[in-house]
Amino acid sequence: MSELPLPPATRTLGHSGIAVSPIAWGMWRLAENGRTAGDAARLVHAALDAGITFLDTADIYGFDGAGGFGDAEALLGEVLAAEPGLRGQMVLATKGGILPPLPYDQSADYLRKAINDSLTRLKVDHVDLWQIHRPDILAHPQEVARVLDDAVASGKVRSLGVSNFTGAQTAALNHFLDRKLVSTQPEISPLRITCFENGELDQAMMLGLTPMAWSPLGGGLLTAPESARDKAVAAALDTVAQAQGVSRTVAAYSWLMAHPAGIIPIIGSQNAGRIAEGAAALSVRWTRQDWYAVLVAARGVPLP
Ligand code: NAP
Repeated sequence: MSELPLPPATRTLGHSGIAVSPIAWGMWRLAENGRTAGDAARLVHAALDAGITFLDTADIYGFDGAGGFGDAEALLGEVLAAEPGLRGQMVLATKGGILPPLPYDQSADYLRKAINDSLTRLKVDHVDLWQIHRPDILAHPQEVARVLDDAVASGKVRSLGVSNFTGAQTAALNHFLDRKLVSTQPEISPLRITCFENGELDQAMMLGLTPMAWSPLGGGLLTAPESARDKAVAAALDTVAQAQGVSRTVAAYSWLMAHPAGIIPIIGSQNAGRIAEGAAALSVRWTRQDWYAVLVAARGVPLP
C-alpha cells in the first residue's frame, strides 16, 4: 500500500520565509472559564514545550455576544508582559475585521484601528501574521490592500492572510496587494471536507498560501460523534489510530496534515495535556487507501 509522506518538522508560512511548526494552537476559547494569566501562561508553555510554536488568536476571541471583545488577546498580552522572553519563541498570528454589533468592517479607518488595538492588547510591537477574519463584501479589495500593505511597510505586521474567504475573494485581494498573502484559514476537518473539492486548497497551492485548518475536530464533535455519518468518519479514523497507537484526535490532525497543500491544523483544546498530545500527529503515517476511506465516510457516498 502506498504511504503518504510524513509532515516536515517545520513549514514555511507561504512565501514569507517565516518558519512555523506544522501544527498550531488556537486561543478562541482562552478567555473562558475564568482563566487567569497564570492559567493562560501554563497553556502557552504546554504548546511551546510540545514544539507547537505557531499561535493563533483574534481580536474577537472572548466576545460572548454581549461583550468580551479583545479579551483573549488581552490575556495573552498579560502572559507576554509577565514573561517577555516568550514572544521570541512563538510565531504570533491574530485576526480582525469582525466588529460587533456590525458583522464585518474592513473600511480603511477601521482596519488601521483594529491592527493598532490588537498590538496594544497583545503588548507587542508587531505580529507575525495578520489575517482578515471574514470578508466584508462592502469593502473594495484595493482599499483593503492599501491599508494592509501599509501595515507591513510600517513593521506592525510581518505577513498577511485571510480566513473564510472564497477563492475569488482571495484572488481579488491578492491581486491588489504588493505584499502577497501567505495564508488562508478555512474550516477543515474530517467532518468538513468542502475545501478538498471546491478549489480552495488548489488555489492555496497555486498561490503558495499555507492553509490553516480551523476547528480540525469539528469544534470537538469528532470526539463524541452523533450522526451515523459522523460515527462512520470516527470509525475510519479509529482504524488508523488503533493501528498506530494514537488517539482519534491525533489521527484527525494527521489526516489533514497528509494533504499536499501542507495544511496546518489549529488545535482548539485549552487543556495542556491535549495540546501536547497533538504533537504526536507528526509521526502518523497514512496510506492512500486509509486516507480515502476517511474521505469516503465523510462524503457518505462512494467516490465515482
Ligand atoms: P477543535 O479542535 O475542532 O475543537 C476544540 C474543542 O474540542 C475544545 O472545546 C476541546 O475542549 C474539545 N475537545 C474535546 N475532546 C478533545 C480532545 N480529546 N482533544 C482536543 N480537543 C477536545 O477546534 P476549535 O476550538 O473549534 O478551533 C480551533 C482554533 O481554530 C481556534 O482556537 C481558533 O484559533 C481557530 N478558529 C478560527 C475560526 C475562523 O473563523 N477563522 C473559527 C473558529 C476557530 P477542551 O478545551 O476541554 O480540550
